[in-house]
Amino acid sequence: MARNLSSSCKLCRREGVKLMLKGARCESSKCAFTRRPYAPGVHGTGRPRRQTDFGKQLREKQKAKRLYGVSETQFANYYKKAMKMKGDSGINLVQLLETRLDNAIYRAGFAKSRAAARQIVAHGHVQVNGTTVNIPSYQVKSGDILVIRENKQNKAIWKELAEDLKNHEAPSWLTVEPAKFTAKVTSLPSAEELKEAFDPKLIIEFYSR
Ligand code: SF4
Repeated sequence: MARNLSSSCKLCRREGVKLMLKGARCESSKCAFTRRPYAPGVHGTGRPRRQTDFGKQLREKQKAKRLYGVSETQFANYYKKAMKMKGDSGINLVQLLETRLDNAIYRAGFAKSRAAARQIVAHGHVQVNGTTVNIPSYQVKSGDILVIRENKQNKAIWKELAEDLKNHEAPSWLTVEPAKFTAKVTSLPSAEELKEAFDPKLIIEFYSR
């Protein structure tokens, strides 16, 4: 669902963290959270209310859901899948979210926000291992090669991004070739790298109640 600028920024202020929903604006001094780092509404500047354990767990779940821009049902499905996988369910959950194709495109620096990455994928600009994939939730795996389709690379937007890519720091699980708009998934995101703005353990507890 498309959100206008102020409603996206309200989500950051509600969750008390920069969710980076607006691309370049998020890095600038125009960021609403940087200027007003408190919850929106008349009670936003008041004394913070004490949160129950349930409240904390719910907030972490909401935060993560909004960060990756997925629906309630999709998010619950990621939890179920994470629980069925071997290993730490919290890490599994973050890995499932991180390896969504739209997130990988964002992490590679080919889009300025996850929402923009989702559009790039949905509009058929991305190939995975030589085949066009237009499903933002597609799960990438180690060894996959992600490419912005060659015939789309000359558009003005890509020229601007090519400049930005020179300064982009991709995570270690992605090797990016900026000049070719190509990224290789070299591994899965590791626990050390998963320092996102939320605590997956609290999310597992939320669903395990
Ligand atoms: Fe808005 Fe800042 Fe959040 Fe970006 S990080 S969506 S600019 S409040």
